[in-house]
Amino acid sequence: MFDDIISYIRKLMDKEIGPVPLHEPIFPANEKKYLLDCIDSTFVSSVGKYVDRFEDMVATYSKAKYAIATVNGTAALHVVLLLSGVEKEDEVITQALTFVATANAISHTGAKPVFIDVDKDTLGLSPKHLNRFLSEETRRENGCCINNSTGKRIKACVPTHTFGHPCRIDEIKNICDAHGIVLVEDASESLGSFYKGKQTGTFGTFGVFSFNGNKIITTGGGGMIVTDDEDLARKAKHITTTAKLPHPWEYVHDQIAYNYRLPNLNAALGCAQMECLPEFLENKRRLAKKYEHFFSDKKIDFIKEPENATSNHWLNAIILEGIAERDEFLGTTNENKIMTRPAWRLLNKLQMYDDCQTDNLINSRWLEDRIVNLPSSVILND
Ligand SMILES: *Cc1c(COP(=O)(O)O)cnc(C)c1O
Repeated sequence: MFDDIISYIRKLMDKEIGPVPLHEPIFPANEKKYLLDCIDSTFVSSVGKYVDRFEDMVATYSKAKYAIATVNGTAALHVVLLLSGVEKEDEVITQALTFVATANAISHTGAKPVFIDVDKDTLGLSPKHLNRFLSEETRRENGCCINNSTGKRIKACVPTHTFGHPCRIDEIKNICDAHGIVLVEDASESLGSFYKGKQTGTFGTFGVFSFNGNKIITTGGGGMIVTDDEDLARKAKHITTTAKLPHPWEYVHDQIAYNYRLPNLNAALGCAQMECLPEFLENKRRLAKKYEHFFSDKKIDFIKEPENATSNHWLNAIILEGIAERDEFLGTTNENKIMTRPAWRLLNKLQMYDDCQTDNLINSRWLEDRIVNLPSSVILND
């Protein structure tokens, strides 16, 4: 079973033997040059030209007014939730079908996640289900959105652009605006993905990108906050850099803050990788097209670019018939050293989140049982 799929993936990934990774980073351009330059400069830590340049490159690419580099995507999410006014007793809406970092960042503020269903086609937060929940199960009090069942304030909403596919972010934004909820986009997986021509991550008050080793471009570890709000951008920079007041020699800090700044060394890698992004995107688009064509012949559902969207196709995915077929596929492919993976366990099923409120999560549960991610690395000798 699945022999033809296994040999097709090996051919696509140009690996006739040996392991085929799920998503492998590649460093084909100026990576070593910038890293050596960074080391020679001695500015390897939290100050240096590469950090500023990397921020400029991401801001320019995404057409966000401001970009602030951080040590990772989780730290970026943590900080923007704080700057969105999320407090200890609050709740924050997100999806159950996302990487655990989304909910962890919410928890780091002391707030509690509420898990709402996703759409089957985008794999991202469903505006329909979000609207139903907010209309039927919350009320407005002094401009705040109050959850009827807990009496707590719902301060923010964090949808994810899952596997790089944009969710219906404009509808989600309108719903959040109507209910007085701050929109923060977890665009960790979706640099290079556009919704109606606009970079994902630039619809909300804040957006966050990740440059972890498995993302479309990597800095080893790293993240980026984007926003169009000058004041919030200034605060984001301040709170991620120990809240130190600028002074030639004095150490004065005006609040308890974080050491979340991206080191210059990582940013050097980021600058080189940003130069590669257009080529990586073209390559991933071609790979997704090939997968799509192959699986349509096999009558296996392949997750396609959603309507109104241009996807970066970060992680390709198919939908199998159910848990039994999924597990058989995962077993056979992994035995043959093809790294395939199921979707994340729904976050409301993890022990630290099993007491969080959810809606019926019908689509999330359906997808959880059926999704398999396929090897999706950029292969340059294509
Ligand atoms: C990668 C990722 C993050 C952030 O991860 P870091 O490893 O902290 O950079 C957050 N949310 C999602 C959905 C992710 O995939």
